[in-house]
Amino acid sequence: MSISFDSDFTLTIGGKGVAGASSFPVLNPANEQVVASAPDCSREQLDEAVAAARAAFPIWSATPIAKRKEALLAIAGVIGANVEGLKRLLTAEQGKPYADAMGDVLGGAYWAQATSTLDIPVKVTEDTAERRGETRHVPIGVVGAIAPWNFPIILAMFKVAPALLAGNTVVLKPSPFTPLTTLKIGELLRGVLPDGVLNIVSGGDELGPWMTSHPGIDKISFTGSSQTGRKVMASAAASLKRVTLELGGNDAAIVLPDVDVAAVAEQLFWAAFRNTGQICIATKRLYVHKDIYEPLNAALLDYAKGVKMGDGAEQGVQMGPINNKLQYERVLDLIADAKAKGYKFLVGGDTPPGPGYFVPITILDNPPEDSRIVQEEQFGPVLPLLKFDDLDDVIARTNASPYGLGGSVWSADEEKALDIASRIASGTVWVNETQYLSPLGAFGGMKQSGLGSEGALEGLLEYTNVQTVYLKKKAVAPAAE
Ligand code: NAD
Repeated sequence: MSISFDSDFTLTIGGKGVAGASSFPVLNPANEQVVASAPDCSREQLDEAVAAARAAFPIWSATPIAKRKEALLAIAGVIGANVEGLKRLLTAEQGKPYADAMGDVLGGAYWAQATSTLDIPVKVTEDTAERRGETRHVPIGVVGAIAPWNFPIILAMFKVAPALLAGNTVVLKPSPFTPLTTLKIGELLRGVLPDGVLNIVSGGDELGPWMTSHPGIDKISFTGSSQTGRKVMASAAASLKRVTLELGGNDAAIVLPDVDVAAVAEQLFWAAFRNTGQICIATKRLYVHKDIYEPLNAALLDYAKGVKMGDGAEQGVQMGPINNKLQYERVLDLIADAKAKGYKFLVGGDTPPGPGYFVPITILDNPPEDSRIVQEEQFGPVLPLLKFDDLDDVIARTNASPYGLGGSVWSADEEKALDIASRIASGTVWVNETQYLSPLGAFGGMKQSGLGSEGALEGLLEYTNVQTVYLKKKAVAPAAE
């Protein structure tokens, strides 16, 4: 299907398309031109979306799980059937190359499909002549799902798919920087899902806080920065809403001296620079053993020379711009700080004037461990290469971070690498790869990288309340006729 950028993008409330109370422009980060206007959801319209979700909840939660699984498959089918148009729209608003936009859209479809294979367990706690006890997982109610701009579709589906499977209804809010593809998916799903089961709202900076403080929302599932995550948790505390928080990271990769440098350089490059570094689980600190520091650094620079950066809609482009001005300025500020402190740049450091939020590939040579570029999440194409000698020391440096999202270890000695992996305080650790996520493996952050998890049974159960039911057998005699 071809999707017109000139079409009216509308909110989805109670299964209907609704124009926003006003609208706001969505920019293409490659050229800063307006892609389209997005509806700006008013407070009253959010109330309507929450009311529609509440109205749909009794029937949806009582719908047999087999039917809810069919609904997830239908979502996957609709997204998959429209991937070409959705991919173009996503590249226009997000900036990533078409191939990556396709990965995000199809990843969302895959997540819905794979989540449909999960089941919700019932545990029989006892079953005697006297009593039967069962612990069940029941839906919570209305879930407010808040998504970021780096992978708008798959990260929204991380929330929507398990929430719906567990029997909840949803109000989904995409980032104001990337609302269009999500709104379009909402439009395509009208009539596919029962009215009110999935509502989609877009808006400005006030909409998220309205959701987290809304009395009609029972749970918030949030993906975004740790800074915003703290605000979400504080706001949700007022009504003790359940929260799942998927937050920032500062993943380290530890590269041991026994690796084949030429073979790992390309993988390590993309571990840091895929999606222009805008990945929560991107490698943001690359610790390289001193014996291979120089050759690896040369191999990375050599590989970087052949990588094409540009408008994601152009043929052959592998890295797009930073998605938005705010993030662009954050990344430039980190580069300016590194320059001001006199750190050595192996490549990059100068930024073209624009238009477009382009930051060239930037690699720094062994900046101090306590520098901002090492300690802060850069979320852009800027990577510090760091030298190490002693394993205990590099593990301590890796773990001396408020973040604990991911991390990786690279070595030909798998046993040794697994042992190091077990000493890293992060929710996910990879050996000899990065960023592999599976709907069957739980994903979540330790420390200030999050609370709870997504994916797998663990993630699914985050959308349930635990309920234990005891039956005292033959305790009450039937009334006499
Ligand atoms: P952000 O925190 O600025 O925004 C995320 C979402 O929250 C957006 O939809 C935004 O509109 C909304 N929001 C903003 N303020 C809010 C508030 N006070 N209350 C409620 N909602 C509010 O994050 P971002 O810049 O969109 O995304 C980048 C960050 O997300 C990075 O730190 C990255 O590491 C993190 N991230 C984490 C994961 C993960 O799974 N752990 C995945 C992707 C991105």
